[in-house]
Amino acid sequence: MVFFNKIFYNDKELRYIKEAIESSKISGDGLFSKKVQNLLEKKFKAKKILLVTSASAALDMAAILINLELDDEVIMPSFTFVSTANSVLLRGAKPVFVDIESENLNIDVDSIEEKINSKTKAIIPVHYAGHSCDMDKLVQIAKKHNLRVIEDAAQSVNAKYKDKFLGTIGDIGCYSFHETKNYTCGEGGALVLNNEFFFERAEIVREKGTNRSKFFRGEIDKYTWIDVGSSFVLSDILAAFLLAQLERMDEVLNRRKEIYNTYYEGLKNLEKRGVLKLPKIPHYSSSNYHIFYILLNTEKQRDKLMNFLKKREIQALFHYIPLHESPMGKKLGYKKGDLPVTEKISRTILRLPLHLRLSKDEIYYIIDSIYEFFTSTRR
Ligand SMILES: *Cc1c(COP(=O)(O)O)cnc(C)c1O
Repeated sequence: MVFFNKIFYNDKELRYIKEAIESSKISGDGLFSKKVQNLLEKKFKAKKILLVTSASAALDMAAILINLELDDEVIMPSFTFVSTANSVLLRGAKPVFVDIESENLNIDVDSIEEKINSKTKAIIPVHYAGHSCDMDKLVQIAKKHNLRVIEDAAQSVNAKYKDKFLGTIGDIGCYSFHETKNYTCGEGGALVLNNEFFFERAEIVREKGTNRSKFFRGEIDKYTWIDVGSSFVLSDILAAFLLAQLERMDEVLNRRKEIYNTYYEGLKNLEKRGVLKLPKIPHYSSSNYHIFYILLNTEKQRDKLMNFLKKREIQALFHYIPLHESPMGKKLGYKKGDLPVTEKISRTILRLPLHLRLSKDEIYYIIDSIYEFFTSTRR
């Protein structure tokens, strides 16, 4: 079976975890958490990075930090994971969905402005597949209308827009270290703060609404409840696993790039024949090669190809059910037909296996199987 995703680790992860446990500080903000935060801040030239329990948690914190309130509106794509919208809904605010671009599956920046009104508080661009949104244009719109920008960079750790790392461009960035992402500790994430305005309050919200971080630094002699918050701190055991993953960050990126390019070169002729479309990385974007997807011409053909590959023991998957078409999206007043590009993409996309334990033979087997699908019978 060729699995869609497989985690990669070696002795280092295990050695670091053992060290974390033996230090007997296994809650958050221990030695390994500090090392990870420093490594990320330095590499990404970020003002402040805090490890949290997931990208969902980072998004929830971001929604608190920008003071989202009842009936506020936040603009985001519908083609995203549920957490982007949940963070807004949990504050009593409303996600306002806009369409994506068919070229790169990121938010269609040109359709943002028409959705802005007096209730709009923020924009949440999602950098899909590790490919950057058009950030200069987006930030300019946000500035013009005095809106906050929260980057959902869950999939885009170590990817760039021009010379800036994703997550470090808006007011706040959110990273994921979930098992399915490029760098992982099972469940984990980080909050990137690009504006000093948020530093102090972020520390408090992350520590259940208390000033415990100040207490641990010896700045105050007891800590107390001073704001809303929750338990957002990542365990140092997980940070230890994560440090080992991040210390080979660029090696992982380069190996993913090789796989991505092998697929791209291998499938180019099928694109020329017009039976499928390959992803296009925008000129301003340096990808981390999180996802390799193909776009089929119809939903029927996508489903047929997916089943064909399944019979050949290749796990290929699709996502997302557009948020505006989901049961929850319908409750919010959206309906099928509202966002045509998103709907078309979600019905025709197919994601191919991409992980470090994929062998060259397996990649060629997948490419050959796709050719066979298109040549064996008329479809
Ligand atoms: C994976 C993902 C998330 C959620 O990440 P978790 O760390 O699992 O909470 C949020 N947004 C996007 C776009 C994602 O791909």
